[in-house]
Amino acid sequence: MWQIPIHPANEASRLQALTACDIMDTPREAAFDRLTWLAQSFYDADVAFMGFIDDAYQWMKSVTSSAIGNSITRNRSVCQVMVATGEPLVVGDLRTDPRFAGHPVAPQLPLRFYAGVPLRVPPDLVIGSLCIMRRREGLEPDFDVAPLEALAAIAVDELELRRLNRELTRLNRVDALTGLANRRAFDEELVRAGLRCQRTGETLSVMLMDIDHFKSLNDSSGHSAGDDALRRIGAALGTTALRQEDTMARYGGEEFAAILVGSGTTGARLVADRVRAAVSEASILHPLTGVLTLSIGIATRSADGLHPSGAGLDELALRMLVNEADTALYAAKRGGRNTVVSHGGPAE
Ligand code: GH3
Ligand code: MG
Ligand code: MG
Repeated sequence: MWQIPIHPANEASRLQALTACDIMDTPREAAFDRLTWLAQSFYDADVAFMGFIDDAYQWMKSVTSSAIGNSITRNRSVCQVMVATGEPLVVGDLRTDPRFAGHPVAPQLPLRFYAGVPLRVPPDLVIGSLCIMRRREGLEPDFDVAPLEALAAIAVDELELRRLNRELTRLNRVDALTGLANRRAFDEELVRAGLRCQRTGETLSVMLMDIDHFKSLNDSSGHSAGDDALRRIGAALGTTALRQEDTMARYGGEEFAAILVGSGTTGARLVADRVRAAVSEASILHPLTGVLTLSIGIATRSADGLHPSGAGLDELALRMLVNEADTALYAAKRGGRNTVVSHGGPAE
């Protein structure tokens, strides 16, 4: 008699592993379609499908025929059994098998034979299944799930490669010392912010920050004390609660930079004040100035100023924006340091 299986003890880790794969609701892909096609052909089946099972749904990444829909609630899924047991499931006839008597879907299906294997990711978490179904019922005595398991293992390898690739891409954009965005990420995010502001008509500001007299801290306390100060500055900047579409980056050695979307000079100055407060609160000792301080330069462009020619985003306009922030930063240095200078632009 059919009973909805209870969730496995590792359900929370299982869902985490599924999220880490970032596979749910992604478009069709040949890499997975090839595996279901092979499964269908090898077993002379009428349909093969690969599904991933989250807390509420089974969603099909690949299906070889429209006989199977592309999602089903978990409670009505046959494959959910494998999430609970962690074992392959083979059913000679879904219409007559007592395990599925009273199941809301299985006994009514025109597809009567079912064989499925779990998609298992390390350490031992079932996130989905690879299955074949046939119209004709009946289990051959020599039926073997091993080839289906081999295809499932290829799918899992593909998922793991993608996960590692995403992780590498992420690391490639993070500054190792501070955990902030690195220069590469800053440059990419600046173009993205420019495109966004052009679309929305928002103002864009760039803020460059340079530590005052950093060299003398290095010289008197050593390079590793300097690195420690950079790490603490990074942590302080990370607490300044930028908007989601903003970016805080380590721009170079002891220079930091922020991209502020939708902030004119007034908003950018508010962020600069928050930055200076956070740095002052960090109370990093400095041999010349007592505590470590920053100088800040701000430059701002209206959305119109980002495409002066009227068509497309002008990357030269973005470079000029950064140059103006740099000029403002040097004015802040000349003005005595520990101060903020903005290079004009709209207030809002
Ligand atoms: P100013 O107030 O004019 O900015 O003076 P400054 O001494 O900070 O001068 P500058 O901005 O030119 O600082 C450059 C120094 O920053 C050179 C180098 O000693 C130090 N520095 C740059 N990158 C790093 C780093 O990754 N770690 C450490 N410890 N020091 C760095
Ligand atoms: Mg510098
Ligand atoms: Mg400096």
